Amino acid sequence: MFRALCFMFHMSLIKTPSEIDKLREGGHLLAQILDAVIAAVKPGVSTGELNVLAEKLMREAGAEPAFLGYGARLTKQGQKVGGFPAVLCTSANEGVVHCIPSRERVLRDGDLIGLDIGIKYKGLFTDMARTVGVGTASATAKQLMRITKEALDLGIAQAKPGNTTGDIGHAVQIYVESHGFSVVRDLVGHGVGHAVHEKPPVPNFGKAGTGLLLEPGMVLAIEPMVNAGGPEVKWLDDGWSVVTADGKLSAHFEHTVLVKKFGYEILT
Ligand code: MG
Repeated sequence: MFRALCFMFHMSLIKTPSEIDKLREGGHLLAQILDAVIAAVKPGVSTGELNVLAEKLMREAGAEPAFLGYGARLTKQGQKVGGFPAVLCTSANEGVVHCIPSRERVLRDGDLIGLDIGIKYKGLFTDMARTVGVGTASATAKQLMRITKEALDLGIAQAKPGNTTGDIGHAVQIYVESHGFSVVRDLVGHGVGHAVHEKPPVPNFGKAGTGLLLEPGMVLAIEPMVNAGGPEVKWLDDGWSVVTADGKLSAHFEHTVLVKKFGYEILT
């Protein structure tokens, strides 16, 4: 029984060729949608408007939002309550991840805005994020975005057979810390495909050679969350928004990545 369960767990981590085709199609679609949302980012636009645009583009493309209603619980009457209320996470400035879009939050020149987005397409999930400056970003903001994006690239480069999830986290952490920034510990990357969040966890820190051994067919959402100050974060009263504890800037970049026989493929 235990061996059978282990086998089933392992198999769910390895996507079939037909699942990979659908993930690739969905991932490319998701990247196009995020590009279009980013093109709409400018001073005077609200994060609520960006969310409306993202949902319109998803529905037009035949995709379902992956985050809307995420984490909802079922009441005794069978009603869903308390899930994430939007299709897009819009985390500005000290926002790390999972901040809720709002008509009241109008983007200002100099803001940093993290946009995290996920879809379900042909039954399978993909997930990605980028952080961009609104108008003119400060030198610190630009540096933070550049280092976070480069840390993602270095983490992705470790996503190959024979390496482990710890190799990914280690590569991200040493690069980020060598530039005087810090990686968030309370939230991590994850497997993705059959659900938005599945096993294994993919931390952005840790020791090389630890964690799960990577194999061809695994699909991972690799997503460094990098703070300009300390690594500590806190949750706001809305139950979703995660912000830096010291109020300093944070950036977030994410791709859905396939581990291949030789190396990797970015699906988003
Ligand atoms: Mg993710």
